[in-house]
Amino acid sequence: MYGVVVCPRCKRAKGVDLKQKTTTCLCGFEIRVVPARVRARANTARELAPLVGQVSAEIAGGLKAYREAAAPVRRIRPRDVHVRVIGIASKARDRANRVRVAAVELTRELEVFSMEDWDRVLTGLGIPHPEEALAALVRANLVLEPTSGFYRAVSLSPEA
Ligand SMILES: [Zn+2]
Repeated sequence: MYGVVVCPRCKRAKGVDLKQKTTTCLCGFEIRVVPARVRARANTARELAPLVGQVSAEIAGGLKAYREAAAPVRRIRPRDVHVRVIGIASKARDRANRVRVAAVELTRELEVFSMEDWDRVLTGLGIPHPEEALAALVRANLVLEPTSGFYRAVSLSPEA
């Protein structure tokens, strides 16, 4: 049995074999593996990776909501995000990869992106039916919807 634990110090999600009593986070903190604190469980290591992404997205979604509540007026959104994402995605080798790279780069820039962000980028790339393209990514477990109407790529590595 495998599970996802969250580091109490840096709030990163980490996959762990539940036979282990402790696991060391990337930040150096030794996390105690206590059943009550396991956020998600999986039977195989293979099923674990998407769960880690999901818990990370939940944490990011919660942090975003918290930040927005704390500073709703001062939320900064650089104007050229969409232009930058379109620039990177347009270099991908085919349409499927352009769509994937667009989701990854939007996530990198914004943590989570809205349908409006997605529309703008796909329009800029000349790809029709942005909603269908996004739904296909969600079905393929490449994109999650951590909060209703907001999306994020599961993995930020370009080739995964
Ligand atoms: Zn940590």
